[in-house]
Amino acid sequence: MICGFLQAIIFQYNIEFLFFKKKKKKKSNLKSLIIASTSTIHGSGYLDYLLEELKLHFNSANNILFIPYARPGGITHDEYTAIAAKAFASIGKTVIGIHQFENPIDAIENAEGIFVGGGNTFVLVSQLYKTNTLSVIKDVVNNGTPYLGTSAGSNICGLTMNTTNDMPIMYPPSFKTLGLLPFNINPHYLDPIVGSKHMGETRETRIKEFHAFNTQPVIGLREGSWIDVKGSCVTLKGNLEARIFEYGKQPYEIHTNANLEFLK
Ligand code: ASP
Repeated sequence: MICGFLQAIIFQYNIEFLFFKKKKKKKSNLKSLIIASTSTIHGSGYLDYLLEELKLHFNSANNILFIPYARPGGITHDEYTAIAAKAFASIGKTVIGIHQFENPIDAIENAEGIFVGGGNTFVLVSQLYKTNTLSVIKDVVNNGTPYLGTSAGSNICGLTMNTTNDMPIMYPPSFKTLGLLPFNINPHYLDPIVGSKHMGETRETRIKEFHAFNTQPVIGLREGSWIDVKGSCVTLKGNLEARIFEYGKQPYEIHTNANLEFLK
């Protein structure tokens, strides 16, 4: 029993030692984010389509802090971290889950790079509030810690999480999120299927409903698209166009590589 306890302490110490004490590469102070619609595009593996980008994006990081709080399909933090670790190992990076640290706030403050994975946005945001980590993430990212978000991890970069596609299976204390962008995100954006007999709301209708009560713009990010933030430059990346929903205007398309700084 004591032995198990001691082993657990030593294991914890080793993880934190590896993460914090390894000689850190010098990071820039420029805000740097990849805010992706999805982690996986059809027919390829987890993060595959982004790996080349991620090599550059996390150039200054040997170790990535993974935040597995969104728990897609209800998987555990450990299971989810193993998936992220496998993808990052292919570009020579180590991934450690935030749940492996004694103190999540220290883990974020010391991280060389942060990845917040997708899953259920309500579960993610609830846990970020519970651990008081939301404002800490915002501070370190504003000070240059490179950030990757996929899906739910991208939703939280907007002003609020109200334009998620997820079911409210938990009740976060607030829908307010990181506000690293001055608009909201709708990831996995889906166009209406021509000729479909489905009578449920389209994504466009749901965003119209959002605009009956809120005025901030929303970007519908199709799978395979991402928003690249470098300092004050905000750019749409990937092969596809994105759909923009501005309060009181007809929705419209914006081409890839477009500058998104006008969107506020
Ligand atoms: N459930 C999505 C995800 O994969 C988020 C969303 O659709 O809003 O993280």
